[in-house]
Amino acid sequence: MKIHEADARAVFSKFGLPVPPSTLVATPEDARAAAAELGCPVVVKAQVLVGGRGKAGGVKLAANPDEAAAKAKAILGMDLKGIKVEKVLVAKAVDIAKEFYVGMVVDRRSRKPLMMVSPAGGIDIEEVARTTPEKILKIVIDPAFGVLPFQVRRMSSFLTADKDISKKIGGMLVSLCRAFLGVDASLAEINPLVVTPAGEVWAIDAKINIDDSGLFRQKDAAALRDDSAEDRGEVEAREAGLSFVKLDGSIGCVVNGAGLAMATMDMIKHFGGEPANFLDIGGSSSPEKVLTAMRIILRDRNVKAILINIFGGITRCDDVALGLIEARKHLGVDVPLVVRLTGTNEERGRELLAGTALIPAATMEDGVMKAIAAAQGR
Ligand code: GDP
Ligand code: MN
Repeated sequence: MKIHEADARAVFSKFGLPVPPSTLVATPEDARAAAAELGCPVVVKAQVLVGGRGKAGGVKLAANPDEAAAKAKAILGMDLKGIKVEKVLVAKAVDIAKEFYVGMVVDRRSRKPLMMVSPAGGIDIEEVARTTPEKILKIVIDPAFGVLPFQVRRMSSFLTADKDISKKIGGMLVSLCRAFLGVDASLAEINPLVVTPAGEVWAIDAKINIDDSGLFRQKDAAALRDDSAEDRGEVEAREAGLSFVKLDGSIGCVVNGAGLAMATMDMIKHFGGEPANFLDIGGSSSPEKVLTAMRIILRDRNVKAILINIFGGITRCDDVALGLIEARKHLGVDVPLVVRLTGTNEERGRELLAGTALIPAATMEDGVMKAIAAAQGR
């Protein structure tokens, strides 16, 4: 789960990172007042859950309160990568002598937290990783101990030869690691961490993603959820207890069980089709769940056919059949539906579907082939 910069700044502050003071506002007038109170110059920053706001025009410096109001007016309501800006953060600006990148993620390969630092800060770190990977130092962290002193020294001396600044950055690395572990983050990033001409260090940007699996014990963080940057279908699916990921293909998939869902997508690809989504309707799926799944999938205009692939264990095939019949009735389904039902109550399920416009499939392979043919209009 992504959280806004303003909230991530609060987390960083709580864990002792130096973050310039700031105020969250929704109008130019409030931006003016915030700038006057904080003291200028300030930086006005769009609060949207997308990266690269600076490049897209969502981060602007202002020398005085009037300018802060004008910049806020320009940014509020702006469309940033498909998301409308509703709020801006007015933050006290700092002078920048040097920008560093400092971040922490969960690393799949080592199955541990990984700290990454780079002297090429401020810009897109993915770009740095692609073009000049030697400018990034990665250190695997043992979650039982957190970042250790020798690791801190290696990273901070990789960033700067200045002993005094190196020491200050070292302190920030320790705090960042505590924050990351403390809030069950899957990502925590300071880009840029800046050094001022006077030798102060500041975290002037803050990004935190919280691990969804940690939200049950991160109640404060769970309250920070903002769905605006997510796909509408993904939000609706989460609320209905479905796992759904939108993809770009033309074959909608309704499947029970994550393993079967992946196998279905693999088989669609194998036979030359493209799945429009990953969707796991879960174990004990009621007709309502199937209905919700169909509604979410049918909203995608790219979908030319839907494959329903159900292995009935706890899920009963007759329940699924009822859901499909309801869906056709209420949703005005105008694409071919290919149905493969096997397992618990499959005969009852097939009886219910007989005489409807649904296309039955004998096996998974048969279902996939029929769905591809239907999607291609054959
Ligand atoms: P992002 O583009 O979404 O990552 O937003 P950032 O918060 O990283 O801001 C983008 C860029 O704006 C930074 O890399 C800086 O160059 C500039 N910027 C942000 N805050 C300040 C500030 O306080 N002072 C100065 N001089 N520049 C800033
Ligand atoms: Mn940034």
